[in-house]
Amino acid sequence: MMKITANDPALTSWVEIPKGSDFPIQNLPFGIFKSGEIMAAATAIGDYVVDLSFLHRVGFFDGLNLPPGIFAKKDLNDFLSLGRAKAREVRLRLSELLRTDNNELKDHVRAREKALLSINTVEMLMPVHIPNYTDFYSSEEHASNVGSMFRDPKNALLPNWKHLPVGYHGRASSIVVSGTPIHRPKGQIKPADAELPTFCPTQKLDFELEVAFVTCAETALGSHITTKEAEENIFGVVLFNDWSARDIQQWEYVPLGPFLGKNFGSTISPWIVTLDALEPFRVKGPEQFPHVLPYLSFEGSKNFDISLEVLIQPQAGQATIVSRTNFKYMYWNMAQQLAHHTVNGCNIQVGDLYASGTISGPSPGSYGSMLELSWNGQRPLHLADGSERKFLLDHDTVIIRGHCEKDGVRIGFGECKGNILAAR
Ligand code: MN
Repeated sequence: MMKITANDPALTSWVEIPKGSDFPIQNLPFGIFKSGEIMAAATAIGDYVVDLSFLHRVGFFDGLNLPPGIFAKKDLNDFLSLGRAKAREVRLRLSELLRTDNNELKDHVRAREKALLSINTVEMLMPVHIPNYTDFYSSEEHASNVGSMFRDPKNALLPNWKHLPVGYHGRASSIVVSGTPIHRPKGQIKPADAELPTFCPTQKLDFELEVAFVTCAETALGSHITTKEAEENIFGVVLFNDWSARDIQQWEYVPLGPFLGKNFGSTISPWIVTLDALEPFRVKGPEQFPHVLPYLSFEGSKNFDISLEVLIQPQAGQATIVSRTNFKYMYWNMAQQLAHHTVNGCNIQVGDLYASGTISGPSPGSYGSMLELSWNGQRPLHLADGSERKFLLDHDTVIIRGHCEKDGVRIGFGECKGNILAAR
């Protein structure tokens, strides 16, 4: 395993880290914030965001050879394009500046007050401009549940599923940052007993609990990325909600796959947690059998132990946890997904988003969508306020959270949150 100094569990910060915080000194994710006139790249620590553009301007990153203004941008793409090694240097420098035993920023009161802003007073923006978005279908439990529900429980997985990471090209323009409301989409729906489709608001609005990775390289058309090279091209990961209209999806998806049932909106969490920060949380994935083709084989542990949960909060009620699962259950890992995606010569770009597909675990409480949790509406969920849900209602808020924990260190992702508004 790679030794990353900034991940040392023994490190402490002079910034107070509340118990259970997503952002200890071992995390140091990257995002874009806005506060009044200021819009810049930031990291998070405890209950603060740290303005990287300010730190850069006043000389705290001297010696790192960063391009001028690299953090004074509306997205992280130019910073990402410098690659993981450069981001590792920046993260290490931030770790130094925020350490208990370092006085450079701690004792520089004016700089400290300018650099650290209360996280509750800033607005988090989209961290990256996303040129391309792909959604995989890499959870065996999810694919089996959906296959059993709509096809045949005895042959839940289609013949290709264990030979390649199935995916489709999604819509990048409608990916929004956590906190952005989503209007209930309208579309064509054909109930099973109807002869013709009707046009109306979806009656089966759903979330999909996913984790997505962001790439930090540009490759040439015609080239490919091996499973061994893949992680050097992956900057980090975010939480992802692939909102889905199941009734629109069911009518439209044959034969080319998801379209308007998906492209009305997808939500990401605002902080990109680096693959470096996740290094201590590597675990082995499920055994893959039948054996994969050579271009999909890989060495080492390529899954990550990330606990995930989904909450539904009704307009006036308290939030209820409706699902608890883990990213470690994924059958296909990120390195295999990227290797497969490019094996035909497809090029990647800086800021591309690659989502895992719905992450379901083995037990009913670990399913990553309402479709599975309510088994297509047959088993309504009971929320804390006494109400029931088969699918999402207007004014429901869906909150996805995730964190890793080991050796007393807890690395979190912040929230991926979206509120449903009535159809327009
Ligand atoms: Mn999906």
